[in-house]
Amino acid sequence: MSTPPRLEVQNLTRRFAGRAVVDDVSFAVPAGQVACLLGPSGCGKSTTLRIVAGVDTQDEGRITVDGRTVSDDGLRIPPEQRAIGLMFQDFALFPHLSVAENVAFGLKGGAGANRRRVAELLDRVQMGSHIDSYPHELSGGESQRVALVRALAPRPRVLMMDEPFSGLDERLRDGIRDETLALLKDEGTAVLLVTHEPHEAMRMADQILLMRDGRIVQQGAPYNLYNAPADRKVAGFFSDLN
Ligand code: ADP
Ligand code: MG
Repeated sequence: MSTPPRLEVQNLTRRFAGRAVVDDVSFAVPAGQVACLLGPSGCGKSTTLRIVAGVDTQDEGRITVDGRTVSDDGLRIPPEQRAIGLMFQDFALFPHLSVAENVAFGLKGGAGANRRRVAELLDRVQMGSHIDSYPHELSGGESQRVALVRALAPRPRVLMMDEPFSGLDERLRDGIRDETLALLKDEGTAVLLVTHEPHEAMRMADQILLMRDGRIVQQGAPYNLYNAPADRKVAGFFSDLN
């Protein structure tokens, strides 16, 4: 028997007031790979991610993690039991907790019992010297790095990131994208990354899921979409890459 993908989404549909904002979406993400849900604002990316996380509910479709169904017509496993980590742009650090306490937040025993894992993760993102700092002492990029390792600390089976770099200074973004990617690859996490920026998807994705009006219009390796766009709209979407 072959190993099931880390994350599998089958025929997901979500309607608001009768309109399908997510329309029969299917994809799979193997362990260690980054899938980018890419498309213009309003095409249904965040709704898809929220349903996979379990904070919204589909009208139709099935979601499995390592072959275990976490959501389908009859079954709804609550978000905290899905082994899915989350990182949102506005998913701020807890201001009253130190960096170490923030990173250890999802770990049994807190910062004391997990000193080693916390220190090791912070070192990986060059934040080891800030372990006892507080969020107000950090820059935007530094906060983002801490938020990343906080999400990874409990070793989620799947990590979902919704526009995680969009609040950052443009000059910092590529550096943090590369650093993030290296850490994700080391951890072997399967990642679903939502972005509206083709450049970000080209840089980070193993697989791009290009979305338009709730549907996936093309999926494949970045160079496939770039070199062989399914239609003129897809070509247009990638045309201003530099
Ligand atoms: P994206 O993340 O790609 O920008 P969203 O998934 O946030 O898009 O939204 C997709 C569409 O669904 C948008 O038209 C949005 O207005 C609509 N939508 C999202 N959430 C709700 C909701 N709770 N009620 C009604 N419409 C919603
Ligand atoms: Mg969104």
